[in-house]
This record gives sequence, C-alpha cells and structure tokens, in this order.
Amino acid sequence: MRNVQLKLAHKMLLLVVLPLSFELLFVSILAVLLRNAEIELHRETHSKAVISESNELVKNLYDTSSALVAYAVNPSQQVTAEYLKRVELLPLRLRTLELLVAGSERQKAAFAEVYASTNQTLGLLKKVKDDLDSGEKVGNLASAGVLRKRITSSAGALITHVHELVAEERQIEEVAPQVQARIRQLIVFVLIGGILLSIALAVYLALFVSQGTVSRLQVLMDNTRRIVGRQALNPKIGGSDEIAHLDSTFHDMSKELELAEKQKQEVISMVSHDLRSPLMSLDFSLTLIGTGKYGDLNEKGHKELTSAENSVKRLIRLINDLLDIEKIESGKLSVLKMPLSFLTLSEHSIDAVQALAAAKQIKVETQSAGDIEFPGDSDRLEQVVINLLGNAIKFSPNNSVVIVKGEEKDNFVEIRVIDSGPGIPASYRKKVFERFQQVSRGDGKEKEGTGLGLAISRAIVEAHGGTIGVDSEEGKGSSFWIRLPS
Ligand code: ADP
Repeated sequence: MRNVQLKLAHKMLLLVVLPLSFELLFVSILAVLLRNAEIELHRETHSKAVISESNELVKNLYDTSSALVAYAVNPSQQVTAEYLKRVELLPLRLRTLELLVAGSERQKAAFAEVYASTNQTLGLLKKVKDDLDSGEKVGNLASAGVLRKRITSSAGALITHVHELVAEERQIEEVAPQVQARIRQLIVFVLIGGILLSIALAVYLALFVSQGTVSRLQVLMDNTRRIVGRQALNPKIGGSDEIAHLDSTFHDMSKELELAEKQKQEVISMVSHDLRSPLMSLDFSLTLIGTGKYGDLNEKGHKELTSAENSVKRLIRLINDLLDIEKIESGKLSVLKMPLSFLTLSEHSIDAVQALAAAKQIKVETQSAGDIEFPGDSDRLEQVVINLLGNAIKFSPNNSVVIVKGEEKDNFVEIRVIDSGPGIPASYRKKVFERFQQVSRGDGKEKEGTGLGLAISRAIVEAHGGTIGVDSEEGKGSSFWIRLPS
C-alpha cells in the first residue's frame, strides 16, 4: 500500500469520501432497481385492469343482449328495467377503458375500433328494441334465438377488437412475474454485493490507515519514549506527510538533546574538578588558619575567617547537591548496602551537625529502645540524616531539643528527626520532597538552603527501597521520618 506520499489531511478526507461515494453509488443503484420494480408492478396492475375492464365490457354487452332477448319474450317492467340498466352501464365501461389505455398510442387505436364496434352493437340493440316497441313481437323461443344470433354476430367484431386491445396486455401479464423475479434477484444480488464490498472497503481502509498512519504514529510514540529514556531513536519514517515532518523534528530534537547532554557533562566535570577541588583545598586552608598554624588572629580576623569558612562550606554543599541531583537524574545514584547500626548512624550524623547545634544552644538527642541493625549504605544514609538534622536545627528555636529516634517496626526500621520548629504546612508536606521547593515563611531562612536536600534524601531512601515523609503540626514542630526495609 503506497500511501506515504499523501498528507494526513488527505488520508482523513479519503477515509470519509471513499465510503461515502461508495454508499451513494450503492444507494443510487438500489433506488433505480426499486423504481424499476415499481414500474413493473404498476404495468402488471395496469394490464390486469385493462384485461378485466375489456372482459367486463364484453360480458356487459352479452348481458345486455340477453336482457333484450328476455325483453322480446316478456316485456315486463322488471325485464325492461334490467335491460336499461345494462345499456346505461356500457358507455361508463367504455369511458373507464378509454382512460386506462390513454397512455399508449397503439392501444388508443385499438380502443377506437372497440369503441366503434361497441357503438355499432349498441345501435343494433337500440334498433331491435325500437322495432319491438313498435309492435314487431318475438312470439316464441325460436324467434328469440334468431334475435340473439343477430346480436352475437354484431358483437363478434367487438370481441376481435377487444382481443387486439388486450393482446399486448396479456403478454405483459404473462411475463410480468418473470421480470419481477429477475428484478428481485438483481436487488438481492446488489444488496449482498454492496454489503460485501462495504466490508471489503472498510477492511481495506482500516489497513490503509493502520499501515500508513497508526503504525507510523506508534514509531513516533516509541521515539518520544526513547527521547525520555535517552536512547537512540528509530530510523527516520519516510514520506512527506505531517507524521514524517514530526518525526524529522524529533530526530533534530534528539540531536540537540545529545549535544546539550554532552555540554552538561562538560560543565559537571568542570564544576567537580575545577570548582569543587579548589574550594575543598580552600576550606582546608581556612580550617588550618583557624587552628593558628600560621599564627594567631585577632578577634576580627577570627570573625572574618568564620564567615569565609561558612561561605566556602555553603558553596561546597551547593556543588555537592547539584552533582547528586545530576547523579539521580542520570540514574547513576547507587547504594551499597552493608549491615548498619542505628546508634552509630545517629552518632556520626549528630557529630557532623554538632557545631551548628552548638551555635544555637540546641541539644540533639538519640532515642531508641536499643540498637537496631539493618542493611543500608552508611555514607548515603548519614547524608540523609545529616540533612534532616541540618534542617531541624536551622528551623528550631534556640535552646530547644532535636531528637533522632530509631524504632524497629514489623518489617522496617523507622528513623525520625523531631524538632520544635514552625512545622510544615499541610499543602507543602509532599511538595518539600521535590526539587527547589521551599516553604516561604518570610524569615529569609529558605535563602540559606538550596531546596535540594530533601529531594536528594528521597532519592537515596527510595534507592534503598524505603519511603520518606513528614508528620507535622504547624507551629509546634516537624517529625521527618524515613522507613527502610529491615
Ligand atoms: P533547603 O533546606 O536547602 O532549603 P530542603 O530540600 O532540605 O532544602 O528543604 C526544603 C524546604 O523544606 C526548606 O526550605 C524548608 O522550607 C522546609 N523544611 C525542611 N525541613 C524543615 C523543618 N525541619 N522545619 C521546617 N521546615 C522545613
């Protein structure tokens, strides 16, 4: 099926126009056939009417002559009335017959003969009646027989003409059933043929659309999935229709994405080597200066040094977060599960945030019924708990307590970081785990963070097969939890 050259709009048009034209043709043929059948039926009815009316005319004439014979024998009042009634009927029958044959020139000519011979016989009847009325009586049955013969021979011509008149009609009447049967057969044939052709056309069009459009759209859909999954696209779809254009745009887009991806990788390696490494050594040097290794600093110097250290640490955190997010996005975040102890995890994490907590006189406590062992990546899980603790300390009031709570449940371990900060509004309880989502409270604290910590934490927890969430009562504190399979 070569249809790739057609535009999509043309194909759709074809899909409508083709069946429509076919149906119109089909209905027209059927209409013509039905009309023919109707004409044939009408012709047969008409023939029957002409034949019957002609027969009635002849019969009427015979009845009239019989009535006249009876009148000749016994001119009683009843017989006379009978005769007159029949005579009056004759012109009416002639008129009906005339109307019936008005449509055919040949029949009109034959009718003229019938008309003439009827009138002639009628004339004879009238003359005989007049003779009878003027005294010429028919005294016995033999004489009546003679009179009947006279009239019958006069009517003979009429019968011949009537035969001529109905000859064609009889023929029509004879062949009508065959003709009608033929038309009926033809209608059935056209009906079945039309239905079969309709089905064939529908199947053909379905294949036409499916091969030419649906299958190509499927390639297109597959390409969209491939773009998302960063895989190589299917070979280009040929043709010049809209789908082909779209496919070509997809290929261009894919190339652009590949290029962008390459450039992103270059930026990432530049960030991690050319930015992070010098920042790390700067941080190290600042720490050394702080220890007094290169001489003592006065109070102002210490203040400046601390501020510089904080800025550098913030920058390093930001770079680390960005590199982690990139890892998550490219599916390169992997966790190495080893047996872990909750108490160790908690202790290491608290150590890491001790300075932060001390600056706000916040006490960080561990709570658990005993140690809990579970499998996990210690570095990555510490990163999560440190992030939760960092947030808890950042948002908690001075002199408050932050708790790291461990609990062993049915088939998972739950670690909670509980603070008495402002809490998380209900509308943000899911959102905060998405990238760059921060609750804006107007205290400027969100500016201290990147909005990436919880998104990274969620990716790490999920990589462990666990879940993360927060329970919170606004204004009273938050309880961030992670649940890890034990
Ligand atoms: P960051 O802290 O760097 O902004 P996070 O992803 O760690 O990014 O947190 C996202 C946002 O969630 C924070 O900006 C803050 O608005 C809110 N948040 C997180 N932890 C807490 C908490 N313990 N108390 C109140 N708000 C919090």
